[in-house]
Amino acid sequence: MSHSAVANPQVLIVGAGPTGLVLACELARRGIIPRIVDKASAYFLGSRGDGLQPRTLEVFHDLGVLDAVLAAGDTAPVVRVFDGAEVVAEMRMAEPTEPTPDVPYPNLWFVPQFRTEEILRARLAELGGRVELATELVDFIQDDDGVTATLRHDGADEVVRVDYLVGADGGRSTVRKQAGIDFVGDTNETITAMLADVGVDGLDLARGYAWVNGGIALSPIAGTDLFNLAGAPPADGSPVTVELLQSLVDEASGRSDIRIREIVWATVWRANVRVAARFQEGRVLLAGDAAHVCPPTGGQGLNTGVQDAYNLGWKLARSRELVDTYAVERLPIAHGVLELAARTLRRHVDGDENAHQRGAEFHQLALNYRGGPLSRDERATPGPLRAGDRAPDAPCQENGAAVRLFEVFQGPGWTLLEFRDDVVIAGDRTLLDVDGHARAAYGAEGFVLVRPDGYIGLTADGRDAVEAYLESIAAGAVVVG
Ligand SMILES: Cc1cc2nc3c(=O)[nH]c(=O)nc-3n(C[C@H](O)[C@H](O)[C@H](O)COP(=O)(O)OP(=O)(O)OC[C@H]3O[C@@H](n4cnc5c(N)ncnc54)[C@H](O)[C@@H]3O)c2cc1C
Repeated sequence: MSHSAVANPQVLIVGAGPTGLVLACELARRGIIPRIVDKASAYFLGSRGDGLQPRTLEVFHDLGVLDAVLAAGDTAPVVRVFDGAEVVAEMRMAEPTEPTPDVPYPNLWFVPQFRTEEILRARLAELGGRVELATELVDFIQDDDGVTATLRHDGADEVVRVDYLVGADGGRSTVRKQAGIDFVGDTNETITAMLADVGVDGLDLARGYAWVNGGIALSPIAGTDLFNLAGAPPADGSPVTVELLQSLVDEASGRSDIRIREIVWATVWRANVRVAARFQEGRVLLAGDAAHVCPPTGGQGLNTGVQDAYNLGWKLARSRELVDTYAVERLPIAHGVLELAARTLRRHVDGDENAHQRGAEFHQLALNYRGGPLSRDERATPGPLRAGDRAPDAPCQENGAAVRLFEVFQGPGWTLLEFRDDVVIAGDRTLLDVDGHARAAYGAEGFVLVRPDGYIGLTADGRDAVEAYLESIAAGAVVVG
C-alpha cells in the first residue's frame, strides 16, 4: 500500500494560544520547526484558562515544562463566602489529594493562561521555534499536495506554500470559516459573566472571597498580586471600569477598605457551546477553540486544546494517514467534554450548591481512544487496560535507582513495554517492578505498545503482533472508518 510520509513537512500554525504553542513544541522537538503566526501585536495578558487538569500536567511533563508550570501555580484556593460582613461558609473547588503510583499529578493546578503561554513560548524557543506576532492569516486555498496561504504583516501580503495548515486560531477561527466548516451548537446570550483580572488593596491573596448577596467573587491569581473578579456584566453594556468594579465590591461587602487599584484584563463571557462539524478538510486541520468552544465551567477548554495538539503533533510529523486519524479520535472527545462543561454550567445556573466542585471526571485521565483506528487489543487475556487507554505511570527501579514509566515514555518516540515476572523491559532498558505497581496498572504478561502521545496503541502476547502493528503504521495501512 502506498503511503505519504512527507519528510520534514512544512506546517503553518495559525494562532499562538496554548493549542498552537503545544503543537509547535511537539513538531519542533521532532526536528520540524513550524511557522506559528498570531495576528495579535502583543502577547495575551489574561488569566482566563487557569485550571490545568491532571492529564495536561502529564503532557507538560513529557514536553519538559512541568517544573516551570508547577513553580508558577497553586492548588485551588479556599474561598471564604460572606453574606454581607458575616462569613457563612468556606469552600474549595477540589481538596488536594496525594499522588498515587499511576497518577503522579492528581490535582487541578492553577496557573494563569498568560503564564502557561509564556512557559510554552520559552520551551519553543529552546527547541528552535518562535512566534511571529502581528501576522494574520487572511486567505488560503488547498490542492492535493499542499496549502497556499496568504499572511498579512507589515502592511503587505506574503504567500506561503505548506504541506499542512492548522487552525489553532480560537473560537472565531478564520481557518474554520474559510474551510467552510460549520460550527454546530448554540450561544445563549442570557447566560453571561464578567471576568476581570484586577489589582486589589485590602484583601489577603492567600484565599478567595465571595459575597452571596452581591453575586461577586474574587479569586487570587497564582504567582501574581492580582485577583480574578467574577460577577454579572453591566446590564446596559457599559465598559468595565475601575469605578464600576469598586461600586460592585462596596455594595456586596459593605466595606470601604477594599480598593480596586487597576484592571489588567477584562472580558464579558457568553455561554457558547459549539463543535466544528469536521476537524479536517484535506490538508487543513482545526484544533483547540477553533474546533470546539465550551463554557469555562469545568475548566476544560484550554486542556482540550492541549490534548488536541498532543494528538496531532506526532501524526503531522509522520504521515498523512496518521493525520487522518486525528479527527476520528478527537471529535468524540470534544463532544464528551462539551457535554460535561454544559452540564456543569446548568448546575450553576440552577443554583446547585455543589456545582463548584470538580471531581475526577474533569481530570481528563479517563478519556481514551478505545475502538479507534490506532487501537488494537490482541492479548488472549485482556488486562485492566485496553488499547486506546492512557498509559499510566508506575514507579520502578533501574540499576538500583528510582525511575518512573513516565520518564521512560518522555520524548517523541514509541515505547514498547514487555512484562515478565517482576521485570518490565522498556525498549533496551530493564526496569524492576519492585512493588508490583506496573503490573497492577497494566496487568498480565505480554507486550504493551505506548504511542508517542502516551496512549496504548497495542496490547499483544507476542512480538510478531508488535512488528505487524508498527509495519502497518509505517506503511500507512491505518483504517479510518
Ligand atoms: C472567561 C474564560 C475562562 C476560561 N477558563 C478556563 C479554565 O479554567 N480552564 C480551561 O481549560 N479553559 C478555560 N477557558 C478556555 C480557554 O481560555 C481557551 O479554551 C483557550 O484559550 C483556547 O486556546 P486556543 O489556543 O485554542 O485558542 P486562543 O487562546 O483563543 O488563541 C487563538 C489565537 O489565534 C489568534 N488568531 C485568531 N485569528 C487569527 C488569524 N486569522 N491569523 C493569525 N492569528 C489569529 C488570536 O490572536 C489568538 O492569539 C476559559 C475561557 C474564557 C473566555
